Amino acid sequence: MTSFDTLVTNVRVVRHEWTKPQQVDIAVRDGRVVQVAAGIDPASARTVVDGGGKLAFPGVVDAHQHWGIYNPLDQDAASESRACAQGGVTSAITYMRTGQYYLNRGGAYADFFPEVLAATADRSHVDYAFHLAPMSKQHIGEIPDLVERHGVTSFKVFMFYGSHGLHGRSTDQSSFLMIPKDERYDYAHFEFVMRGVQAARERFPELADEISLSLHCETAEIMNAYTRMVEEEGTLSGLAAYHASRPPHSEGLAVSIASYLAHETGLPTINLLHLTSRKAVDAALRMSQAFPHIDFRREVTVGHLLADIDTANLGAKVNPPIRPREDVEALWEYVLAGKIDWVVSDHACCRDEVKFGAPRDDVFVAKSGFGGAEYLLPGLISEGNRRGLPYHRIAEMTAWNPARRFGLRTKGDIAEGFDADFCLVDDDHTWTVRAADSESVQEYTPFEGFELSARVTDTFLRGERILEAGAVVGTPRGRYLARPA
Ligand SMILES: [Zn+2]
Repeated sequence: MTSFDTLVTNVRVVRHEWTKPQQVDIAVRDGRVVQVAAGIDPASARTVVDGGGKLAFPGVVDAHQHWGIYNPLDQDAASESRACAQGGVTSAITYMRTGQYYLNRGGAYADFFPEVLAATADRSHVDYAFHLAPMSKQHIGEIPDLVERHGVTSFKVFMFYGSHGLHGRSTDQSSFLMIPKDERYDYAHFEFVMRGVQAARERFPELADEISLSLHCETAEIMNAYTRMVEEEGTLSGLAAYHASRPPHSEGLAVSIASYLAHETGLPTINLLHLTSRKAVDAALRMSQAFPHIDFRREVTVGHLLADIDTANLGAKVNPPIRPREDVEALWEYVLAGKIDWVVSDHACCRDEVKFGAPRDDVFVAKSGFGGAEYLLPGLISEGNRRGLPYHRIAEMTAWNPARRFGLRTKGDIAEGFDADFCLVDDDHTWTVRAADSESVQEYTPFEGFELSARVTDTFLRGERILEAGAVVGTPRGRYLARPA
């Protein structure tokens, strides 16, 4: 008698709580893992998958993406979720806001968010959820509804938007935010966002640990001044110029302000997004000492762990910027010391014709952001292996930790009762990154030519294969994850 739909054998299973991968089988029924044990009888399963001795990692919970920022949302949900599947990402949490880009409109989330759900429905190859940014006073008032009706439990503040815009010179700031004329997107607004999020935590105490606020920490005034200096001096170009125009202390200062506001408003669930430099992480660690009652989480992106201003091409323009090598090394020190909670892609597919301005090599007219979900896990394993980062810590930072923080209760582990989301990884396969081989519609990648030593070959979403031998298979069956999910 068969009792399992699928049995995956001959794999080395990676879990956050196992210090070494273990040779065990994974039994799946109705989309869930029902047993993880050695020597499960193959006759008990309808389908047996021979893992070929590869690693089985928990499906990546990529907690920072930007579907629909530059391309129509319905198109990104389709194409960029294919890139997710290619990289072993099975849950994508993507940022969304009103204003320029995305749906290119303002208004209440009560009207906006159903459009977001409609545009993405039945199009994604992976499961997905949304973080929303309260841009106006009205949005702050909508937070309880967003939690209760729409399952949105995480919110975002972009600290530099009010006085700097998205790209620096390439943005017309007056038309950017699309908030009421008599409102400002400033520190006072951030304070009231925090009060609004904290009020929701108090109103829904059973969700309190999973309702959080994420902050993009950069300081507009510092960036404005340094951008002018760098442009006037004119000695730097490319990624070096962009780094100098948005210096690390601009991050550190914003981290400090955000942390004090969290203390002032009594909001303990703070996520400090994409810290890129020694100064940024140092400031974040100082703040967690100063305010031990705040439960800070610290994020870095795989781009900032793999690339520096000398190794990446101009396609790597992103906010905060790609940094010099010494900052990359500092980020790795913090990763290895256990000071970083999760690693994300910050996937924002920006096609060539949108990305680059005129002249093409002027970093200040290029748009910010790039895709990379397909390189998140392979990149982290490849570079992590070189530096002695154990696999269970990679599973912790790519699956377990973000799933817990963001209310994805059935995601993030290969264990009984969890969704059968996992991927098979060949960690003895050297390959060269080529944008042309990616499922993303983005024609370039900052990582072009990088050599990686691990490759995702197969990805399973709720027990069904969505990537087989490196190829995306099946029709989109990703679901919207209303949280807690
Ligand atoms: Zn982002």
